[in-house]
Amino acid sequence: MIPNHKHSTFTRRQLLGAAALAPVIPAAALADETPQLRTLAGPDRVVMKTGKTYLRGWAGYGDPPQINRQPRNRNAPPPPPPPTGPAATSAWSKESGPGEVTFADPKSLVTTAKFSTPGTYVLKLTANNGQASNSSTLTVSVEEPPPAHALEPIYTKANKLDSPFWNPRIKALIVNWIPHCVDQINRTDIKIGPGGIDNFVEAAKKLRGEPHGLHKGYVFSNAWVHQTVESMSIALMVDPQADQEIIKAQEKMRATLEDWIPKILAAQESDGYLQTAFTLSREGPNGTTIDTAGFKHWDRRGDHEGYVGGYFLESAINHYLMTNGKDKRLYNAATKLADCWYNNLGPAPKKAWYDGHQEMEQALGRFGRFVNEVEGPGKGQKYIELAKFLLDSRSRASKDERERSPYDQSHLPVTEQYEAVGHSVRAVYSYSGMADVAIGTHDVDYESAVKSLWANIVHKKYYVTGGVGAVGSFEGFGAEYALPNAAYCETCASCGEIFYQWKMHLLYHDAKYADLYEDSLYNGLLGSLDLDAKHFFYDNPLDATVSRYTWHVCPCCVGNLARTLLMLPTWTYTRSADGLNVNLFVGGTVNVENAAGMNIRMVQATDYPRSGKVAITLHPDVSKNFTVRVRIPNRAVSLLYPPSPEVSGVTSLKVNGSAVKPVIEKGYAVITRNWKAGDKIELDVPMKPQRVHANDNVATLRNKVALRYGPMIYNIEKADQDIAKLLGPDSPLTAEWKPDLLGGVVTIKGQFTDGSPMLAIPNYARKNRSGPPTEYPPQGQRVAADSIIWIKERDA
Ligand SMILES: [Zn+2]
Repeated sequence: MIPNHKHSTFTRRQLLGAAALAPVIPAAALADETPQLRTLAGPDRVVMKTGKTYLRGWAGYGDPPQINRQPRNRNAPPPPPPPTGPAATSAWSKESGPGEVTFADPKSLVTTAKFSTPGTYVLKLTANNGQASNSSTLTVSVEEPPPAHALEPIYTKANKLDSPFWNPRIKALIVNWIPHCVDQINRTDIKIGPGGIDNFVEAAKKLRGEPHGLHKGYVFSNAWVHQTVESMSIALMVDPQADQEIIKAQEKMRATLEDWIPKILAAQESDGYLQTAFTLSREGPNGTTIDTAGFKHWDRRGDHEGYVGGYFLESAINHYLMTNGKDKRLYNAATKLADCWYNNLGPAPKKAWYDGHQEMEQALGRFGRFVNEVEGPGKGQKYIELAKFLLDSRSRASKDERERSPYDQSHLPVTEQYEAVGHSVRAVYSYSGMADVAIGTHDVDYESAVKSLWANIVHKKYYVTGGVGAVGSFEGFGAEYALPNAAYCETCASCGEIFYQWKMHLLYHDAKYADLYEDSLYNGLLGSLDLDAKHFFYDNPLDATVSRYTWHVCPCCVGNLARTLLMLPTWTYTRSADGLNVNLFVGGTVNVENAAGMNIRMVQATDYPRSGKVAITLHPDVSKNFTVRVRIPNRAVSLLYPPSPEVSGVTSLKVNGSAVKPVIEKGYAVITRNWKAGDKIELDVPMKPQRVHANDNVATLRNKVALRYGPMIYNIEKADQDIAKLLGPDSPLTAEWKPDLLGGVVTIKGQFTDGSPMLAIPNYARKNRSGPPTEYPPQGQRVAADSIIWIKERDA
């Protein structure tokens, strides 16, 4: 098989006088011939003009190597040896492009290339065995490097939400979802998906030399305890605005934190290490016990030591912020854990190692940035360097090639990875951590790799909901353009997508990343919960079948989704050297600290995304000249899903009532002026129903259409109509506000080709009327989808 992104020519076939160019030659036709010489140039990629790209070409016989996206099955018989043929020489050359290309060694399959000028280049790998030749190409986009200074994050602190759209969603999280997670974590009798605060209690007993129980659940079951600590901390910074239910829920959260924090800290070992699955022996399968006495720390790839430790670091950041730095118990313990890792792992004589799951890598980036903020510039740099060391150790720290796997992104050095592969949560956490390293070190190889991986995902492996992960069997990325509607799209992968896109925005200062994380937020992530926030989806297929459930055998998403949704202020604003950026339109008040040298209270009044009318009032501490960049939404960032009609720009933009015509830069309207308290920006973002047709390369989506309104993707549901009907391309679409449907939604109305009415509801509100929710996802029988995104437009 020849991957579809390669462009191969078969000169031997032409020499033999066979039929004109054919992309694939049937094996039978070649059975009596000498083996075909083949080449593979590698995946398309992006490179910074100041850097180089790493080429790993292949020339040989038989099938070109494909990245094995599945975890390696060690029990499987080895594959048959590939056919052999005459030795071939190979050479790289420039096929096209605006400038010069310098290959370090053009005759070597594994080499590097540098480029003189930005632009799009096609590189060609040609092999010749004296009888025949074959060539393949790859495309390289050469870009200017990112600005010298990344944007600065806004930490989510005390904030007040005033959004008809978001207030009910955030309230449901606070009064229903988080208390549910707390109750589950406090239980000691959960049979499926166990392992809560009890693990910390038992570990502390062991550390005190008392009789104790076994570690329960997965090795990573500490994760949802830490995520829920973080979720409670952020939820306590939401102004309850006298809502008695929110006040009551927040009281329970305060009491829970006071109960849990001492229990968590009592399980921390004296050197700072914290992972109860190592402190305690573990419950094994079928009532067995796994004795961990001989287990060393940082020795085994699959024990999620970094995954669990990373969530602990992150929880400490938001607990510190919630208490305004007055309660440093978690922060100090997190520093101790981060130092424990730093003291043990690193360049020789320290140990080179990496965890199979990259949560620690992204947490160290975030923690390092936060320590720089709290303790002073440079103080957190060692944690960012440790994140880089852990990432650099992927593939290099394993002498045994069998340990290197695309499943956990260790198949190649991370800076030579240009295609998103493997387990999708590990992948996006890895890329998110790599973006942190690029921000914190300006390493040009990292800048090129994160941009290449981003382009590969967004233009070839991305779902219209902002979710990622096509393949359920290993929870991961599939081949390019292979995007079935029975998608996996794990909720944690939507969280990771938001972190990754947001950090790309910090690095490259571009609004297009906010366009994408807005999509993940309003669809993939928000839709993981039901409207009451009592049930959730672990995986989010585009053809929805089963109902949501209260818990999962692997509850990795339960706290992750809550903490990510609650950090709206962080996703909404960022700081630049000369002012601030408005990235999302969310009604409410956020105090943006230390922007343009002062505090600026930002007040947004809007019912977005129900309408596009947004008013932003600024309250800077003092009148001053600075720049406000307001994102102008672009719904066509991914080349996979061009919407029509085109809806772009703003219908109107005013400052203090007077129309302004700002410069548009990197997707932002740039407004520089002397700002004073009470100055108001008003904009009208055009909102219209749009049809989305997928790029032709996505075979499964031909003859189908999806619907979009602003950032929201739509579903049609059996509850309203027969979803097998055709929605003709000429059917007019209208948006209609339905206050009584699903808590109030903007619907899209149209007409099926048989003349009957079509009603579509936002994807986040799907599956709130079909079938009772369950405790766990139902196993076994397949049921037909009753809520779909991609509607048939014509019979194929
Ligand atoms: Zn998850």
